[in-house]
Amino acid sequence: AKSKGKSAYERFSPEMKEVSHERLQLESRMRRALELNEFELYFQPIIQTATGTLTGAEALLRWNNPSMGMVMPDKFIPLAEETGLIIPIGEWVLEQACAAAVRWQQATGLALGISVNVSPRQFRDPGFVDAVLRALRNTGLDPRRLELEITERLILDNTIETSDILSRLDEEGVRLSVDDFGTGYSALSYLKSYPFDTLKIDKSFVRDVMREQEDASLVKAIINMAHSLGLKVIAEGVEEEDQTHFLKAHGCDYSQGYFYSRPAPEEEFAVWLKTNRR
Ligand code: C2E
Ligand code: CA
Ligand code: CA
Ligand code: CA
Repeated sequence: AKSKGKSAYERFSPEMKEVSHERLQLESRMRRALELNEFELYFQPIIQTATGTLTGAEALLRWNNPSMGMVMPDKFIPLAEETGLIIPIGEWVLEQACAAAVRWQQATGLALGISVNVSPRQFRDPGFVDAVLRALRNTGLDPRRLELEITERLILDNTIETSDILSRLDEEGVRLSVDDFGTGYSALSYLKSYPFDTLKIDKSFVRDVMREQEDASLVKAIINMAHSLGLKVIAEGVEEEDQTHFLKAHGCDYSQGYFYSRPAPEEEFAVWLKTNRR
């Protein structure tokens, strides 16, 4: 559909052929990645800002491919979305993430939360709610310890369906967060009609919070607004100590970012868990 209005020359330019060859190769490799066990979850701690206590982790997907090395999600999630492969991949992520949270509890006694990213195609799949419930059932994780991260962009379209899915998950006790909050040029009204628990302030606002007055004002305003609506707030992309002081002073509930830890493979996260638990 994108080629509408383009000349034949443009449509079949060598560059485009190359791009589509690359895409096809990526797609066929991705089709086999699940069975070849090439996906891996990394985990990044989520910290209670006021106390520095670990409260949970976000699961972030990595793809280890023998010929491409480690592929980051920005490189393959969009294609996984387009092809629908995100559905089986997303089910794998849900199950693995819940299983990891159960293992950590067995190893340390800590009932940490686990946050899982959900992409639009996955969310709209008719089997999505069942897939979530299946992952919980198969692993025995308490639904209240699973938080699904849904981007603000996704929430903005397709209201009736969205509202129905969110309510069903909420009724099951699953936590819901708005990811990339502030980037969706949204009307804020959805916040009062949907059962969200948490807002994640996008890292683009957090990055310059100590240098740009506007960013500082926005972050403060988001925290206050969220609290007055009964929502918790997570700041993502926290890289500097100064930022932690700012966030603490302004009552931001949770923080996440390289300052505390980069996303790490499970073994590394488990070591971090043992040394940083309180
Ligand atoms: P996101 O959900 O906004 O995840 C946060 C991204 O910020 C992660 O990138 C993380 O590694 C990075 N990050 C964490 N702390 C810092 C920091 O202090 N500074 C900076 N500059 N960045 C930080 P990552 O792992 O490359 O993931 C990129 C995006 O891919 C995610 O953005 C999410 O939208 C998507 N994604 C990752 N895993 C999954 C998954 O399992 N399923 C789906 N559907 N999407 C996923
Ligand atoms: Ca996220
Ligand atoms: Ca809820
Ligand atoms: Ca985000």
